[in-house]
Parts: sequence; C-alpha cells; structure tokens
Amino acid sequence: MTAPVREEPCWAPDASPEDRPHRATTGASSGRVTGGLTADVAVVGAGLAGLSTAYHLIERDPSLDVVVVDARHPAAGASGRGTGLLGPRVGPSIDRAARRYGPSMARDMYLASVTAVERVVALTEELGAPCGLRGGGQIVATRTASGLASLARQARTYQALGLDVPVLSAADIRERLDVPYHAGLFHRSAGTLDPAALSGALAAACAAKGVRFHDDSPLRGLRPGDGGTPTELLFPSGTLRARKAVLAVNAAAGPLGLPVGTVLP
Ligand SMILES: Cc1cc2nc3c(=O)[nH]c(=O)nc-3n(C[C@H](O)[C@H](O)[C@H](O)COP(=O)(O)OP(=O)(O)OC[C@H]3O[C@@H](n4cnc5c(N)ncnc54)[C@H](O)[C@@H]3O)c2cc1C
Repeated sequence: MTAPVREEPCWAPDASPEDRPHRATTGASSGRVTGGLTADVAVVGAGLAGLSTAYHLIERDPSLDVVVVDARHPAAGASGRGTGLLGPRVGPSIDRAARRYGPSMARDMYLASVTAVERVVALTEELGAPCGLRGGGQIVATRTASGLASLARQARTYQALGLDVPVLSAADIRERLDVPYHAGLFHRSAGTLDPAALSGALAAACAAKGVRFHDDSPLRGLRPGDGGTPTELLFPSGTLRARKAVLAVNAAAGPLGLPVGTVLP
C-alpha cells in the first residue's frame, strides 16, 4: 500500500489553512486575473524568485505598479517545501568550477554565494521576520572512498583559491554531531530557516508596499511586447498587459515554451 501524498508542505503542519504563511497575502489578493488588467511590471510565480523580484523592485521604485500572479498562491511551489538549508556553494563542486570557468571566476562565484547567504540573513532582519533562522555553519561530509577523494580535491581547490573552508576529520565531526563520517568540509556562513515563512514574510512585505496579488491564475501563454507595446499575459479568465514581465515559474517554464537551463548574466 502506498502512503497518501501530502499536498501541503510540512513547514506549518499544525496550522489551519487560514494560518499558513502564504495567507499573509489573503487580504491583498484580488482573486483570479479576470478581464483586462494592466501593470508596469507583472511577476508570474510567487515563489522566492518572484517574490524577491517584486520586493526589490518596489523597494527601489515605490511608484511602480507591480502585480504578482500565481497559478495557486504564494509559496505553493518549491519555496514552500524546501529543506531549509541556507548555505554557500555554487552548482558544480569548486574544483570542477575552477576547471570549467577558471580559478578567478570560481573564487568569485563562491564568494558571491557567501554574500547571498549574508543577504538572506539581512533580509529576514529587514522584514522583521526571523523565519526560524538558525546559524551554525554547514558540514559537507562523506562516508565513502570516492567521496573522500572528491572532498580532498575540493579542499585543495578551496585552499589554492584562498577560501576559508576548513577540513574536518572524523573526530571533529563526531565531536560536533556524533555521526560516523570519514571527513568533511565546513562552510562557516550557513544556517537553516523556514522557506515557507520567508516566502510568506516577503509576500506580506510586498502587499504592504502596494504590490497587488492574484492567486489561482495559471499563465497559459503570452504575446511578447516590443519597445512600444506591452507584453500580454494570457490567463484562463483574463489578460494582464505589462511593460515588463518576469516569469519566475521554476520547473513550469518548459511547458510554457520558455528557455530552460539558460543562465543569463
Ligand atoms: C524537496 C526540496 C528541497 C529543497 N531544499 C532546498 C534547501 O534546503 N536549500 C535551498 O537553498 N534550496 C532548496 N530547494 C530548492 C529551492 O526550494 C528552490 O530552488 C526555490 O524555492 C525555487 O524558487 P522559485 O521561486 O524559483 O520557484 P517556486 O518556489 O517553485 O515558485 C514557482 C511558482 O510559480 C508558480 N507557477 C508555476 N507555473 C505557473 C503558471 N503557469 N502560471 C502562474 N504561476 C505558475 C507555482 O505555483 C509556484 O508558486 C529545495 C527544493 C525542493 C523541491
């Protein structure tokens, strides 16, 4: 027998639907996109990417008319159900990044990821919402021979790049965590937080600054604008025309025909 699939994230398991983090925007949500709406900037997707975009846009220019639309509601996607690890590092391991992009770029990428962690911590303070933030660093550890070889390559590269990522021995790890790993790398600038709470806090801050929200409105297609005409976003019950559109729909980009796996500078 298979266990039933949980539809709601585990971050607020005991909260009633009304109290879950995304409900912070209930008062601000105007329901579905219906009829013909307009905005300066339309953000589609109310996960951390979309909400952060809306928040920083309205922070920089409070006169902007920003609308956030989601197929369901804020934090309905990965942002409401991530593990909550807040830590540095870039996509490929640091030794691979150094080979692929050069040592200087790999170093800059790692330092940018450390800055990103610091910015998230600062953001929780700015929002006045602790979001369950707990500091304490992050250990990347291994129990296998191949893992040890990989960690050794990474450790050498961190050292060669002048990055402060200490190596932990099995005894060091056991002392901190009492788990039997062979070795690890310690990333100092890291912690954990509740990503659903952070999403909810961002959504609430956006709403308080005048960002409008529309829930239950899946984007079905779009007619891109050019310099003179706005982009037209098509929803089941209406349209939204905007000077700029930010599509932050995560894994739903493919079905919408948007570029996937493209890194834009
Ligand atoms: C199980 C799991 C664990 C993770 N753990 C971590 C972790 O510990 N640390 C970490 O840093 N990252 C973690 N991640 C990754 C992290 O959660 C995501 O990278 C991040 O939340 C993505 O944010 P996003 O805004 O791009 O996407 P999402 O949060 O997925 O938001 C996309 C939004 O777009 C909406 N949408 C989709 N299609 C449409 C459409 N057609 N029209 C309108 N709206 C649409 C969705 O409803 C959704 O709300 C984890 C991810 C998962 C799945």
